[in-house]
Amino acid sequence: MRLIFVGPPGSGKGTQAKRLAERRGVPHISTGDLLRDAVRRGTDVGKQAEEIMKAGKLVPDALVIRVMEDRFRSGDCEKGFILDGFPRTLGQAEALDRMLERVRMPIQVVVLFLVGDEAVLERITGRRSCPVCQTPYHTRFVPPRIPDRCDRDGAALVQRPDDSEEKVRVRLEKYREETEAVIPYYERRGLVRRIDGEVDPDRVFEALEKAVEESSPKS
Ligand code: ADP
Ligand code: ADP
Repeated sequence: MRLIFVGPPGSGKGTQAKRLAERRGVPHISTGDLLRDAVRRGTDVGKQAEEIMKAGKLVPDALVIRVMEDRFRSGDCEKGFILDGFPRTLGQAEALDRMLERVRMPIQVVVLFLVGDEAVLERITGRRSCPVCQTPYHTRFVPPRIPDRCDRDGAALVQRPDDSEEKVRVRLEKYREETEAVIPYYERRGLVRRIDGEVDPDRVFEALEKAVEESSPKS
């Protein structure tokens, strides 16, 4: 299965991608996670991306495309992959097509998570993440068993520097200006499946599995 998850910040892409990737045994590839890792390690890409990410803006296509090309080279994508937060511009979508054409592994489904701005704001400001395994939690909606500790590895949860109300407004604006254009790009190929992302996480997961099953049953 080769999937793309598209949706505004906080629409549940990471939460659902993690779960589906574990269930199906395919990698969950999040450009946000890859970029944050590059920032932490202080790489060339990380240095260039850090301030842009803090401001809630989009990292330039050339940098993100380079990160994705490197990631695909790690050789664990034969059985498929879930792309979470990539592509986020038309330029990235075209570059992705070129990468996948070379290996004859076209995208099968593009899942669009529908969540309104109000819910996005509530979710992002309450989001806490595990710095070790990247699992997202929410102070009210998805609380960890022990407050502020990851259920999986016990690490102290952190709040992302770009998860403030002010930065989320910028990110929503970027989503409208740049990312929404990728929807008609895939719609023309009949690949887009819309999912109500405002119900509880288990119900979102059921709808997701159904959409994926109907569209790419055997792979
Ligand atoms: P994205 O990857 O799209 O930015 P996340 O998966 O990180 O979104 O989810 C954003 C926040 O909302 C997190 O705090 C997460 O725990 C919470 N969340 C995810 N799915 C739901 C849901 N269906 N209902 C309520 N809160 C959710
Ligand atoms: P969210 O799902 O909450 O929007 P992500 O973790 O996917 O957050 O992304 C965090 C930040 O990383 C983005 O605001 C942006 O600065 C950068 N980023 C991630 N993916 C991309 C991408 N495909 N293109 C450009 N910037 C990206």
